[in-house]
Amino acid sequence: MIKINENYQKLQASYLFSDIAKRVAAYQEANSGQNIIKLGIGDVTRALPDACVKAFHAAVDEMASDSSFHGYGPEQGYDFLREAIAQGDFQARGANVEADEIFVSDGAKCDSANFQEIFSTDVTVAIPDPVYPVYIDTNVMAGRTGDWSEGRYAGIVYLDATKENGFIPDLPSEPVDLIYLCFPNNPTGATATKAQLKQWVDYARKNKALILFDAAYEAFVQDRSLPRSIYEVEGAREVAIEFRSFSKTAGFTGTRCAYTVVPKECMAYTESAEAVSVNTLWNRRHTTKFNSVSYPVQRAAEAVYSAEGQAQVKELVSFYLNNAKYIRGKMEALGFGCIGGENSPYTWIDGKSDSWTFFDKLLSEAGVVCTPGAGFGTCGERYIRISAFNSFENVVEAMDRIKKALA
Ligand SMILES: *Cc1c(COP(=O)(O)O)cnc(C)c1O
Repeated sequence: MIKINENYQKLQASYLFSDIAKRVAAYQEANSGQNIIKLGIGDVTRALPDACVKAFHAAVDEMASDSSFHGYGPEQGYDFLREAIAQGDFQARGANVEADEIFVSDGAKCDSANFQEIFSTDVTVAIPDPVYPVYIDTNVMAGRTGDWSEGRYAGIVYLDATKENGFIPDLPSEPVDLIYLCFPNNPTGATATKAQLKQWVDYARKNKALILFDAAYEAFVQDRSLPRSIYEVEGAREVAIEFRSFSKTAGFTGTRCAYTVVPKECMAYTESAEAVSVNTLWNRRHTTKFNSVSYPVQRAAEAVYSAEGQAQVKELVSFYLNNAKYIRGKMEALGFGCIGGENSPYTWIDGKSDSWTFFDKLLSEAGVVCTPGAGFGTCGERYIRISAFNSFENVVEAMDRIKKALA
């Protein structure tokens, strides 16, 4: 008899985006003609940078001729891309990361989901609340949790991000081994200072723990005093993995390219406390289970690092940041407490009521779709997330309608 992985039975069906879609469809049916503005799902809306499109086309043409055709590439990514990344994203900013510490993949979602599998199922995992749900669900699937009750899984150490701690979780009071952090944060838009990250790095060094740092939104950091990479913090190379993606920074959500940094100093331990290189373990896992990102996509990603590509990506990020700033400004003017919206495409808004009630009000009275914070964890109950991924005209119109609806 074929038996299932029983851990999957513990998973809570995520109704968040399907619930939103249902409510939106019902509203649309009852109000035909009303155009709904979607500031909900975290997907980009603007075209790929021209430099990427050109490189993408040229690489497709190479594939069309026997003499320049590419078959399987190296699983970890082509050297041209790994070197461009190490140089452009790290060395140029004074962070010491080498090309052979970069693992190119088809998404930070898969990487942040898969990384946990190289560690024991006995490790204690610390995960923020609210959170990008991938970190939790993959640990449930792996069997690191007990059952679900009152919005949380037994066995996970939840790190609350609340108004009281400025949406930067405090260090846990009990020992943990694997720590997930994400800055600029999805969903809250909060950013962490170097000093705040240093506390986590120091904690991990002291406790032989490991940090999985999700930096998918690093390009949105404009404040020069804020770190864009955890490797700007001293000691982080010993205890931190960093996930990055071209999705939000260069509009690659539908093109698919990302990478994970695994410094050679990072160690994990055997039962007898013998140190094992995490880079070696991940290399083994990645080369066994993954067969590289397509050649044209890696060429398109490489073009991000050209002078033309850098200017275009900067413009793209500024465009969304301008939307975010507008959203935060308007919501604050209406008297709502906000975090994010600066150095982040997301604004996290204290709706002063439960988040689904506020969601329904914005939908039915303003025709605007946001994301209810409760979908990201128990600490999101009073909040909504508004995304800056839309046209400026739509953002202005949405804020105008919200103002009228709430007046
Ligand atoms: C969008 C996002 C990612 C990126 O996912 P890809 O699979 O690279 O598209 C990773 N982490 C967070 C928190 C995100 O919001």
